[in-house]
Amino acid sequence: MKMLRVALTGFHHESNTFAPVPASLDRFLAAGTFESDELVRVYGESQATLGGFLEIRSLPNLEVVPLNHADLNPMGTITQEAFEVLVGRMIEQLKENGPWDVVLLALHGAAVAEHQPDADGEIIERVRRLVGDDVVVGVALDMHANVSERMIRNSTVINAYLTNPHIDPRPRARQVAELSIATARGEIQPVIAHVSPPVAINILRQGTSDWPMSHLISLANEMEHQHGVLSVSVIEGFPYADVPELGMSFIVITDHDQDLANHLAQSLAAAAWDLRNDFLGDGTDIDIALQRAMNSPRGPVVLLDVGDNVGGGSPADSTHVLAAAQRLKVRNLFHSLCDPGCVADCHKAGVGVNIALNVGAKTDQLHGKPVKISGTILHLDDGRFEDTGITHGGFRFFNAGPRALVHTDDDHFILLTSRPMGNTSRAELTSVGLDPLSLKVIVAKGVHSPRGAFEPIAAEMIQLNTPGCTSADLSTLSYKLRRRPMFPFEPEATFSL
Ligand SMILES: [Zn+2]
Repeated sequence: MKMLRVALTGFHHESNTFAPVPASLDRFLAAGTFESDELVRVYGESQATLGGFLEIRSLPNLEVVPLNHADLNPMGTITQEAFEVLVGRMIEQLKENGPWDVVLLALHGAAVAEHQPDADGEIIERVRRLVGDDVVVGVALDMHANVSERMIRNSTVINAYLTNPHIDPRPRARQVAELSIATARGEIQPVIAHVSPPVAINILRQGTSDWPMSHLISLANEMEHQHGVLSVSVIEGFPYADVPELGMSFIVITDHDQDLANHLAQSLAAAAWDLRNDFLGDGTDIDIALQRAMNSPRGPVVLLDVGDNVGGGSPADSTHVLAAAQRLKVRNLFHSLCDPGCVADCHKAGVGVNIALNVGAKTDQLHGKPVKISGTILHLDDGRFEDTGITHGGFRFFNAGPRALVHTDDDHFILLTSRPMGNTSRAELTSVGLDPLSLKVIVAKGVHSPRGAFEPIAAEMIQLNTPGCTSADLSTLSYKLRRRPMFPFEPEATFSL
């Protein structure tokens, strides 16, 4: 069997074009861009996409070469500098270390750079241009990708996760890697169909265990077992990136049978279109949810701050829920806020000291006003913690930047972080000495991403109708570039195959 040379590289960002904080080069570098051995150390055992790519090192007759990978948590649009430096590095490394039989790319699919709205399409095209048409380019995407025709055209194999919260990036990436290798060995001839009906699905309806997503996922799973079908992806799309390719889409890959691929992708798209009214969503009012939590016989009730969904690019400093909790005198509540200035004040003061602070809402008005708190500093650290259990996206190592936990006089546990954190791990709480089970209310800044961690212990999880740049109410966002007409923005939109 011929020895194959396989490159692993990636650039991972979900860009919320409505979010106030740009994805700049310094933020990418601070978050961690990893190369070669370090990439293996960080991702090898993880459940993330690169973990799935790295699994193929155990297969015979492959030389697997990890190159660079950049990953930054979701926030605003990527700066031109960040994109050009990091993608430039990727292309340079591919050039210097080639030639290749296979290039495996870990992308998100909803990356938007200020000069390249279809940033993922641009990356795949640059890779394709470099390696030529004979090299296999395998791409693994997040389920929130907004997939362009350019992404499809330049990929040999491309798929996305099938779970939200995302607990399958590793096996899905392994599928891309295995199909790519089989293609390079001439064992299969993948052909791709991609159909994107004009539908943006509400973030509240994106859970894959719940109707209507559960239905589409089960159709996809059945199709993937059909003879000749290599891979089926149901892609939810990312409604907070204002780009022409915004929307749901379906990718089917078959072994040299374009008609079958087209037929299956079209039938998934038609099924989604028929369900479009079931993809509308609407959250619970903050006060009603807090009252329900206070009256709950047991805790913790987890309140999902949808408008400040850090996994969707929000700044993690919204105070709408905290202000209401103060007003309603809710006790025994956990709430995190990104506020590096207040963290610095706490670190100066020290553990055990009583402190008064104005916390949160420092990035813009949309996410509320700073809230006055006073209380005792319980814990200070550098914000690094590890979660070896199941987490959204398969992440294991977390870095919140320097942190401070303040127990306020009105019995709130306020965890101040220096980086935006989306509350996707129970270890975030245990690492500062809090037992999640002893809390009455946990405010989690996310929609689906906190579920993997908190659903097993929550008395109830409530999605809130909170304002913010990830609001469930898409009518509050002003789009310029998306397709028109599109459901639900233009309810009269039509779709025909
Ligand atoms: Zn996602």
